[in-house]
Amino acid sequence: MKIELLRHTEKPESMIAQAARISHQTTGNEKDYSPEEDRELIRKLRNWGHWSPFEFASATFYVEGISRSCLAQLTRHRLASFMVRSMRYVKQNQEEVVIPQSVKEAGLDEEYREGITKSHDLYQKALDAGVPKEDARFLLPIGSKTSLYLKTNFREFRHIIELRGGEEAQWEIRELAEGFLARLSEMAPAVFEDLRKDS
Ligand SMILES: Cc1cc2nc3c(=O)[nH]c(=O)nc-3n(C[C@H](O)[C@H](O)[C@H](O)COP(=O)(O)OP(=O)(O)OC[C@H]3O[C@@H](n4cnc5c(N)ncnc54)[C@H](O)[C@@H]3O)c2cc1C
Repeated sequence: MKIELLRHTEKPESMIAQAARISHQTTGNEKDYSPEEDRELIRKLRNWGHWSPFEFASATFYVEGISRSCLAQLTRHRLASFMVRSMRYVKQNQEEVVIPQSVKEAGLDEEYREGITKSHDLYQKALDAGVPKEDARFLLPIGSKTSLYLKTNFREFRHIIELRGGEEAQWEIRELAEGFLARLSEMAPAVFEDLRKDS
């Protein structure tokens, strides 16, 4: 899978700290704070469980090559915004399928591919017979790959990473959550550092 961080709030840690400081100030940003002062405050906010300031920074990702199965799990996160490649308008290619490692290890790789080829052949036959893509897609496997944009705020990214990056989460969405975490913690370390397994 490909996970690309496209855009994010400018100086996200500064924005989060600035929003949090209003609770003790009469006006907006009364003085300049250093990045280290911002990080110190963010660590305190985390410890206090004061999460609303984390909503003042957001990021947009482009994700390519996850299965529709993974997509179904991801889109359960209601506070994120999504735009997903349409199977109504875009024809699915046969090779665009995720093959889980466990299937390969079980020695079912070849049969799995045969099953995909069969369903894809029928998909193509349906298209050739004039069946619209929106109906022909019913024949495609849940492992079919898709691409999407996802945007949400840092509070929700933390929540997604906590739930989906854990051991109980399914491997594909866990890989995605780990990818989000790696890129976000590079850009805003104080916000995400406690979620890293090496922290
Ligand atoms: C290991 C694992 C196994 C799962 N298994 C299943 C399963 O078998 N079947 C299944 O259907 N789902 C399953 N899920 C999905 C799960 O039930 C949630 O739908 C998904 O994780 C989204 O979480 P959320 O609702 O906390 O988050 P989000 O939608 O991301 O919301 C973030 C937070 O906002 C608040 N919030 C959002 N909407 C509301 C609301 N309407 N009312 C009150 N508070 C709200 C909550 O505090 C919520 O935690 C599983 C998830 C995990 C991680």
